[in-house]
Amino acid sequence: MNAEIIAVGSELLLGQIVNSNAQFLSKQLAEMGINVYYHTVVGDNPKRLKDAILTAKQRSNLLIFTGGLGPTKDDLTKETIAEVVNKSLVMDEDALNSIEEYFRKTMRTMTENNKKQALVLEGSTILKNDFGMAPGMATEAEGCTYMLLPGPPKEMNPMFMTYGIKYLLKQFGTLEKIESRVLRFFGIGESQLETEIEDLIDKQSNPTIAPLASDGEVTLRLTAKHQSTEIAYELLDEVEKEILTRVGQYLYGYDTDSLFGQVLKKLKALEYTIASAESLTGGLFQEQLTSISGASSVVQGGVVCYSNEIKEKILHVKPQTLIQSGAVSEECAKELAENVRSIFNTDIGISFTGVAGPNELDGHPVGTVYIGISLENGKTTVYKHVFAGSRQGIRQRSVKYGCFYILNT
Ligand code: ATP
Ligand code: MG
Repeated sequence: MNAEIIAVGSELLLGQIVNSNAQFLSKQLAEMGINVYYHTVVGDNPKRLKDAILTAKQRSNLLIFTGGLGPTKDDLTKETIAEVVNKSLVMDEDALNSIEEYFRKTMRTMTENNKKQALVLEGSTILKNDFGMAPGMATEAEGCTYMLLPGPPKEMNPMFMTYGIKYLLKQFGTLEKIESRVLRFFGIGESQLETEIEDLIDKQSNPTIAPLASDGEVTLRLTAKHQSTEIAYELLDEVEKEILTRVGQYLYGYDTDSLFGQVLKKLKALEYTIASAESLTGGLFQEQLTSISGASSVVQGGVVCYSNEIKEKILHVKPQTLIQSGAVSEECAKELAENVRSIFNTDIGISFTGVAGPNELDGHPVGTVYIGISLENGKTTVYKHVFAGSRQGIRQRSVKYGCFYILNT
């Protein structure tokens, strides 16, 4: 079976809104094992909408429409489909009742054109709208399934999840189970990761392996299809094992795990506490870590030590360190990490000092960053990086590497 998503709305063509409905539906359909071959966007124009439907029904056997189910004159999806499939529109009493009820509940006056929303394709299955007025519907015609969903995502998403999927499963029987798993890597570039597992990617079919890079992280989405969930899991385990023998040292988590979440998890398990001294990152490390609930048992606090004065007065960096080596140096990072650890009396002290840009500093190019990690056993390690990218990118990269080093310490 191959599906086509037809988003109706001139505002999409004018660039006023993004076609997030197509993205949402594609993702859901992919997870159900239904191939989506086309995304079509068409304006609120009956002639062009009709052309789009005529084209789509030649090449696809599941057409999912979003938008144009509303009460206004430019909402023409139902009317146009009715014409193409040669069915009439009939008033659905249940839908009309729930529209009347909706108006009563929201204490608004119902107008005559609202009744138009209760018109449905004759013989179609109604998909209830739990978050708005226009009901959706699905129907079959000439070997093709038509599903009509409203435009607003907050109505469309739950309608599809609750009633749309149910219709498709009933119509097409039990599909293959799709299980997927995301492996999350840090500290390795996308191209290097791909090179390491190139042969696996080349021969992939089930599971499929899809790499994706964003924000300095690389993920691999493994997707297996099988009638049996257990076998799908086994297929995933097998390919994961092979991948990890090659790049396992860069794996930090799965699915929705985050670097910061993993740091908290690890430190919590060890009953360790942490404090940070942040110069170029300006508190970003603290911000990210404390945005996760349960951070309080791990995070003691930190100092944003942007100026040299604060580095010296509050964090006791030696004056000669700042004069001789400067604030952007291995020595300064080391002292910051060690001193913040002792001031806050924690197991770990972490420091960030560097040049976020846009201008170089004391002869250090933009992107030069030192990350210091001081441990309770007196051992301190300083890592140097020269990151490329924007100011914000450099700061983000810095705190993520900080996490990466904690996870690997
Ligand atoms: P309404 O009853 O609100 O008129 P409708 O089913 O007629 O709903 P449209 O009029 O086409 O839908 O769109 C209503 C709103 O839904 C749009 O202004 C937009 O905010 C959102 N919307 C429509 N289509 C999409 C889309 N493809 N992706 C994301 N949002 C969309
Ligand atoms: Mg509308």
